[in-house]
Amino acid sequence: MSKKCEVDPQTITHSMFHGTTYRCRDPITMLETEAEFCENEECAMCGILREGNKKRKTRNSWLWWKKSGIWSSNDPGHSLAHSLKRPDQHPYIMFVLDVLSPLPGYTLEVFDEAATIPKYLIVFE
Ligand SMILES: [Zn+2]
Repeated sequence: MSKKCEVDPQTITHSMFHGTTYRCRDPITMLETEAEFCENEECAMCGILREGNKKRKTRNSWLWWKKSGIWSSNDPGHSLAHSLKRPDQHPYIMFVLDVLSPLPGYTLEVFDEAATIPKYLIVFE
């Protein structure tokens, strides 16, 4: 993207939070034991760790005519709301992504999967 725009990559790379959920076992145990990622199609954590963010896995937009992109926020509290969609889930998880976008924003929605690069997984109570 930076070559297309002929800009410094640092100016279009934004560190953003992406709260999500998981369906398999406790992520701390999984990461500490270096176990295999699960194959559950509903497990966003393992899917992102295995393949990166995929548009086909995003929630449908509330606007019926609009396809959803990959959402992230520079506010971890805002992203936490997405982690809380499953109140039975403890601990919570959140990814820190490098998101390529011409402009920064409180939230960013990108439609190119390659423009979101997972860097860190935060596991918290
Ligand atoms: Zn999993």
